[in-house]
Amino acid sequence: MIANTSRGAGRHVCIVGAGIIGCATAMALSRDGWRVTLVDAQATPGQGETRANGAQLSYSYVEPLATPAALRALPGWLLSADSPLRWRPRNDWAHWRWLAAFVASCRWPQVRRTTDALLSLSALSRDTLQSWLDTVPGLAAGTLHARPGKLVLYRDAAARPSVQRQLGWQREMGCVQRVVEADECRALEPALAVTGGGDIAFGVWTDSEAVVDAALLAQALARASGAMMRLGDTALRFEQRDGRVHALQLSSTQRIDADAFVLAAGPAARALLQALGWAPLVEPIKGYSITLPVLEPNAAPRVSVTDQGRKLVYARLGEQLRVAGFAELCGTDRSLDPRRIDALCKAVRETFPGACGFDDPKPWVGLRPATPGGRPLIGATRWPGLWLNAGHGALGLTLAGGSAALLSSLMGGQAPAIDPLPYRLPA
Ligand SMILES: Cc1cc2nc3c(=O)[nH]c(=O)nc-3n(C[C@H](O)[C@H](O)[C@H](O)COP(=O)(O)OP(=O)(O)OC[C@H]3O[C@@H](n4cnc5c(N)ncnc54)[C@H](O)[C@@H]3O)c2cc1C
Repeated sequence: MIANTSRGAGRHVCIVGAGIIGCATAMALSRDGWRVTLVDAQATPGQGETRANGAQLSYSYVEPLATPAALRALPGWLLSADSPLRWRPRNDWAHWRWLAAFVASCRWPQVRRTTDALLSLSALSRDTLQSWLDTVPGLAAGTLHARPGKLVLYRDAAARPSVQRQLGWQREMGCVQRVVEADECRALEPALAVTGGGDIAFGVWTDSEAVVDAALLAQALARASGAMMRLGDTALRFEQRDGRVHALQLSSTQRIDADAFVLAAGPAARALLQALGWAPLVEPIKGYSITLPVLEPNAAPRVSVTDQGRKLVYARLGEQLRVAGFAELCGTDRSLDPRRIDALCKAVRETFPGACGFDDPKPWVGLRPATPGGRPLIGATRWPGLWLNAGHGALGLTLAGGSAALLSSLMGGQAPAIDPLPYRLPA
């Protein structure tokens, strides 16, 4: 067990979900003096949407999905057969409400507010995770955490003005980033020089960005938090008494009583809240990844690369290359489309030829739990005793530490390090 302060004063909290958000929350609450129980349906932490994600700790690059540029590009994406985006309309009222709210969020003032909120949270995340890595013995070991910097490649020169605008906002919030020309992109990532990296219009370089294996980090946080683990058991419903959530019923027929509960169940949080009578809009956005062995280290990217044109991310995790991408709105369908996996393999072959082996690409599908505007939901629910930490979309790994620290402050009645209002649940 790690050193505690006394905010939780030994009170018992039960967290539902041992993904990266739940495990980081366990760590923050445990450090603040809570006695923590962590419940997950899977046998190991970090096996849900966290498991084989893009691995990027993208602290300075937080542009939400909902932007005017995304709205303009949408028709083209939806009509193109090999588009990175896919949409299957569903007969589900919440789905249409989410889409309407998404479109309403695609306005610059809204994008600006969301960018500010996400940057505040990501700065807190960077500080929180770094302090844990620095002070908790053994935490970093084996998580493949590294700080190689990040290069975002743009294929369309017309994107430059909106990128400049976004970088200007991010600079005001303390992010150190710069626009680089195609040649400098190839100098920053020499593995691009083999093929030239295709038609690069320009890039954005951020020196300070990091990578980590999200599943290994979740497991390390769960261990280091000293939480009591209830793995392989499904949370069925919360029970209320005297207007307060006081217990959680599990599928094993056992019940957990606690002073407080945190719902950190990723896309499944919605269904558990819905059973109480109300749930916020969170849409699962499906993505894919492959994890390849690096055969030729000099041919594989050393820095973290986002190919904005193809909507793909590359992260070097020790001897492996993680490649992730695509966004499909098709509900909770987790089927693995082999064409998507082929497209990821093809992109690696074309961009970094000779770098990796393809015998077993370890294909993976995950659902990003996305709110319409892109801000996660962190705070008290309308049911006393029940708190929410969910809806982190494409940035859950990046935002985990800050979301956990913020929630722990709120639960302990302390002044939070950042303004909690942008993440507050709708009334
Ligand atoms: C392809 C892809 C690439 C991504 N790349 C990045 C990236 O590079 N950087 C980044 O920051 N983010 C990235 N993300 C986003 C990130 O992975 C998610 O935002 C994050 O993993 C969400 O974490 P979570 O803990 O909320 O959810 P999860 O990891 O899904 O954790 C929730 C847990 O709750 C458990 N659970 C659910 N219901 C119940 C129940 N009833 N009872 C018990 N347990 C339950 C599940 O088993 C699961 O373990 C990516 C996502 C995808 C899909």
